[in-house]
Amino acid sequence: MGNPLLRVEAKPFTLEEILSEETEILLRDMWDSLEEAGGIGLAAPQIGISKQLAVIKLSEESYRYPDMETTEPYVIFNPQITVLDKEVQGFWEGCLSVPGLRGYVERPRKVRIDYLDENADERTVEVEDFLATVFQHELDHLIGMLYVDRMEDVSTLMYEDEMILQEVSEEEILD
Ligand code: ZN
Repeated sequence: MGNPLLRVEAKPFTLEEILSEETEILLRDMWDSLEEAGGIGLAAPQIGISKQLAVIKLSEESYRYPDMETTEPYVIFNPQITVLDKEVQGFWEGCLSVPGLRGYVERPRKVRIDYLDENADERTVEVEDFLATVFQHELDHLIGMLYVDRMEDVSTLMYEDEMILQEVSEEEILD
């Protein structure tokens, strides 16, 4: 947080760029970074690339998130997001670009994302509940937004150490 790249709108990929060797290397780098950090989602601006790309994968093997169901690995280029259910749900979000902190964020509970996959094929996915929050969090990175911008009550911002002391339910935590 504080790096200007996290605050600008990322540029879309051309089809040629998606299929390039350079992007293949970038993708490998992103999956490696995500695994190393023990996270569940990462957007290209977080590693210094201001382009519209994010990767997401929830894993039930994650020791930090024991109650998650494993999902397929999502590779998302040039996403368009549509809210399908305006009713909101709240989770304690964290972010690899805002280390050590968590904050309570409410977002729509169901969204559709139209995007291109790593083969530059058009894909559509409808997601709800926790996964809908994960998608919205990651795709916010592509329009220069961080979860702290989405917080209604900044007094819920807290250090992870403090959160453990306060015994906030683990299944509500997102990172
Ligand atoms: Zn983030």
